[in-house]
Amino acid sequence: MSEPMKPPFESPVMPVMLEGDHQFNFRCHKGISCWNACCSNIDITLTPYDIVRLRKRLGITSAQFLREYTVPFEMEKDGLAGVKMKPVPNGTACRFMVDEGCSVYDDRPASCRYYPVGLMSLRKQDEYVDRDAYAVVKEEHCMGHLEERPITIDEYRQEQGVVEYDRHSRGWRQLVLKKKSSGPSIGSLSLKSRQFFFMASYDPDTFRAFATSESFRESYDLPPELFDEIEASDEALLEFSARLLRQVLFGEVSIPVRQEAVEERNTRKIAAAEAQAAQAAAQRKAALADLNDAERFDASVDDY
Ligand code: SF4
Ligand code: SF4
Repeated sequence: MSEPMKPPFESPVMPVMLEGDHQFNFRCHKGISCWNACCSNIDITLTPYDIVRLRKRLGITSAQFLREYTVPFEMEKDGLAGVKMKPVPNGTACRFMVDEGCSVYDDRPASCRYYPVGLMSLRKQDEYVDRDAYAVVKEEHCMGHLEERPITIDEYRQEQGVVEYDRHSRGWRQLVLKKKSSGPSIGSLSLKSRQFFFMASYDPDTFRAFATSESFRESYDLPPELFDEIEASDEALLEFSARLLRQVLFGEVSIPVRQEAVEERNTRKIAAAEAQAAQAAAQRKAALADLNDAERFDASVDDY
């Protein structure tokens, strides 16, 4: 294939909210003149499910994936962090773009699947549940809109395999929306909470090790089968991480804490702090004794 065409990079999103039955004309195929233009200048925000799919596809851990393929960004000031795909070094193209198209096509992120449709989760002030609305994004470089193929947004979502992606991202997307829409009423999150959000959202391998550890099992009253499920399935792990995040960030308790484990842990912490203090005191005493010995030695040398 020839050099990918360089698109003009304004992205005029039509500010019209559409339902799933909205029909539009669109077809993307390899023979089209703008082939790969959309992948040549990326701005792709990843969901936790995008990460589990891509890190599995690449055969690496989620920590490696985060290091090598993503850059963090602030979704909101002093709030939750997001991660975006890192483009090629010194460029704007996606690292997975090849002449034939997408080298990770079956595991491409949700926003690549959606394009040129944009998903907007909305929650009205007087509603308790969010609902999905869509927009069709028309960028000048994208010739797919000129193709004669009428398709509804719902059909397009099916065709692009995005329904499965949305199912596994829903719990996480809802909590991000809740945090964003609640504003100052939730208060600003501590650094520790923000770090926990990052790990539970984007580093599933580390989160799995944490959530199946001995101390976690001792601390929370959960059925053993649940731990088996989150050991075996990335999807079950994501569902659990969203549940735990709701508890940690919003105090929506669905995972009962074992009170005796909390007390035991506090007792252990106090004992460890006391042992540390005793050790520090012993070291200070020993240092003082050494100093006295040295002074006595210096005095005896002077006398000599
Ligand atoms: S992941 Fe694939 S579809 Fe998405 S931007 Fe990269 S090459 Fe394009
Ligand atoms: S038609 Fe649009 S989506 Fe398809 S390659 Fe061209 S720019 Fe990308």
